[in-house]
Amino acid sequence: MATEIDFKALTAHAKENGFIYQSSEIYDGLAAAYDYGPNGVLLKNNLKEYWWRSMVQLNDNIVGIDAAIFMHPKTWKASGHVDAFNDPLIDNKDSKKRFRADVLIEDYMDKIEGKINKEIAKAQKRFGDDFDEAQFRATNPNVQRYTREYDEVATRLATAMTDGDMAGLKQIIEDLGISEPDTGSKNWTDVRQFNLMFSTQLGNIAGEEGKLYLRPETAQGIFVNFTNVQKTTRQKLPFGIAQIGKAFRNEIVARQFIFRMREFEQMEMQFFVQPGSQKDWYEKWKEARLKWHLALHPQEKLRFHDHDNLAHYADAAVDIQFEFPFGFKELEGIHSRTDFDLGAHQELSGKKMQYFDPETKESYVPYVVETSIGADRLFLATLTHALREEQVPGQDDPNNTRTVLALHPAIAPVKAAIMPLKRNDDRLVGMAKEIFNDLRFRFEVQYDDTGSIGKLYRRQDAVGTPFCITVDFDSLEDGTVTVRDRDTLEQVRVKKEDLAGLIGPKVDMGNLLRSAQ
Ligand code: ATP
Repeated sequence: MATEIDFKALTAHAKENGFIYQSSEIYDGLAAAYDYGPNGVLLKNNLKEYWWRSMVQLNDNIVGIDAAIFMHPKTWKASGHVDAFNDPLIDNKDSKKRFRADVLIEDYMDKIEGKINKEIAKAQKRFGDDFDEAQFRATNPNVQRYTREYDEVATRLATAMTDGDMAGLKQIIEDLGISEPDTGSKNWTDVRQFNLMFSTQLGNIAGEEGKLYLRPETAQGIFVNFTNVQKTTRQKLPFGIAQIGKAFRNEIVARQFIFRMREFEQMEMQFFVQPGSQKDWYEKWKEARLKWHLALHPQEKLRFHDHDNLAHYADAAVDIQFEFPFGFKELEGIHSRTDFDLGAHQELSGKKMQYFDPETKESYVPYVVETSIGADRLFLATLTHALREEQVPGQDDPNNTRTVLALHPAIAPVKAAIMPLKRNDDRLVGMAKEIFNDLRFRFEVQYDDTGSIGKLYRRQDAVGTPFCITVDFDSLEDGTVTVRDRDTLEQVRVKKEDLAGLIGPKVDMGNLLRSAQ
């Protein structure tokens, strides 16, 4: 039986194994900023490659760009971010801690959902195979009461958020008696809007004129380049532009490791379509993106969650949520953004942001369906699912356990580790290094002779290396080595010349890409 590791142990594991460090740790760290270590950067690059290749390489009608982080300040006026990219901020007067008012209310709703799930789990246990969840939900008085309460709060929250009604949010917090999670204090300030954009100053120009923003999303770099890309690539609608890059948000609360950072990386794709066809494309992208996730993660960890309140630019929006250790939360957003962005840029810049349709002989501003995922959240989801404490396969003793990062081989930081049985035997070391120097031209490998074989195996398990290659005394005689499989622990003996042919196809990204189709 394998069990997932709790969140605290996961963050410790990420640090101890060179995945993620707190930024500027020697100065006690900078809140909500993190650095990726040697294994972290390899894993993150693989995840980004998986996204990029599935978008750009496998779709004839999607091309990539890499736009500057700094953009003309008018970009953010047109996009609505200067006026509306706000979160509702509330302070607790006693603890002096800041919170997002909407998140406090959502946490309250999560608790109600928890109570419903508890009732269902209890009944399931009682009725066994005869249990009918739909019927139980429709008839059990407790579940019905909780569901009514949940729906009522959800409606009030959505209305207040859509209307930008800060007093309304405060009223919900007061009516529900929501208290500060750590101290229990209900001594709250009023709720006020807080803009999430970081600003800085351009060159020597003082004041508003020289005010620049660090981009809070990568999407606008795509929109402002729409006509450049369309003309230079001669793409016909529908077509998409993909981009991976840093984004910055001055998040009010950032307490969940790399789930919510102030500097993070987004992988966004804007798909430009004929007006009127956006609903169809929205559904197609929902399905395609879920499939992409299912190639990495099990169905029960993923779910769709429709937005209750739509952003100023959207006519439909859904999140793909992942079950993180702190519950189901947004991993990716899919938004039907209408012609809002291109239309707004056209108006403010005075430049045409239109497409001439050769079939209808008309020019129009295309509609857009966006898929937007955080590389860091995907990284966290991947670690959450892959990191396990389990009984050593093939061993009877339940106390004989190991920590293993069961990553898909295509995204594992290191594909194979090569180790000599004894580090003080020149012939074993020589042969192991020869294999290492050959395989390193094909995929990411590591040479390691810094411990006993058992210890080295455990170390590779902890970082998710799918194969360990050991050179022993028989190897010197017959040119064969053992290859140990991370998941089954089975060992096979193969000729050293056959290693690349055996391991290469198993760690090939093509497998993963194919299973996402
Ligand atoms: P949330 O509701 O969690 O604040 P959001 O709805 O503001 O997220 P989007 O604007 O839709 O997020 O951004 C798209 C994706 O970018 C998200 O699905 C998430 O994966 C990622 N993302 C957004 N904000 C952050 C952040 N502060 N840290 C890490 N990733 C983020």
